[in-house]
Amino acid sequence: MLNYDLHCHSNVSDGTLTPTELVTRAAAREVKVLALTDHDDVAGLAEAAQAAAAAGIELINGVEISVSWRKHTVHVVGLNIDPQYPELVEGLHGIRSGRRQRAELMADSLARAGIGGVLAGALRYSSNPDMIGRTHFARYMVEAGHCKDVRSVFNRYLVKGKPGYVPHEWGNLQDAISWIRGSGGIAVLAHPGRYTAGRKAMGKTTLVELLGEFVEAGGQAIEVVSGSHTPPQFAEFARYAKEFDLYCSCGSDFHGPEESYRDVGRLPDFPLECRPVWEAWQK
Ligand code: AMP
Ligand code: MN
Ligand code: MN
Ligand code: MN
Repeated sequence: MLNYDLHCHSNVSDGTLTPTELVTRAAAREVKVLALTDHDDVAGLAEAAQAAAAAGIELINGVEISVSWRKHTVHVVGLNIDPQYPELVEGLHGIRSGRRQRAELMADSLARAGIGGVLAGALRYSSNPDMIGRTHFARYMVEAGHCKDVRSVFNRYLVKGKPGYVPHEWGNLQDAISWIRGSGGIAVLAHPGRYTAGRKAMGKTTLVELLGEFVEAGGQAIEVVSGSHTPPQFAEFARYAKEFDLYCSCGSDFHGPEESYRDVGRLPDFPLECRPVWEAWQK
């Protein structure tokens, strides 16, 4: 099987490598087909395509859209999108436009908890200020000595119920899927194993309802093999793929050499009986 990695981030969103550095790293790890899927922005794709051509690997145009569904934030990956499709461009612009204000509210809230100066600090970690997000806050807060690593900052300060968490209204599920499909892409439900309700994993009933709406709206695939899933979760989500007749996707969700679950291109194979998502565009 060719080495596919269909989910990763550059510094256009919250990755640490430039699109070129990311593609170069993927090529060095024998990735043959790479999708760059920055959060809510497609600004890295042109540079990534150039780097991919130079490295002799295939680049898939991708994006990872932040969606509010009920009380949850869920992520929808678009693969093989047209980054110039006007509805997608405008939709992503709308989602990005709330990030600056959210960041200000996060910083105010952290200041009330005794942690000052974080907005300016976080902005230093964001090469694309429109895309300022929690990861940039976390990186700065590690630098400032509040926690030993990014994961600890999230757990102590940035997840629901903690002082730096500010609820936010992202895009809507149906819109995100229609922008992706309208642009010629395939909508993939990202890392279903990571969705939570409070401290616990999202319940099965809720996940089934989410998948029902996702499919109803035109979603066609689910991430089965994700850098953030455990092996039992690969099997679990392969069963959901079968039940909902979805293609299966795989991606490391790589963000950078120091803070990722898995390196780019270092994923296990699908469980048996998975229909790989690339069959959808090879037809
Ligand atoms: P945002 O879109 O600004 O809310 O940031 C979401 C990003 O934060 C995700 O894409 C991950 O990169 C990162 N993230 C979310 N939860 C955690 C966590 N518990 N530990 C480390 N990183 C996380
Ligand atoms: Mn991220
Ligand atoms: Mn995600
Ligand atoms: Mn991601």
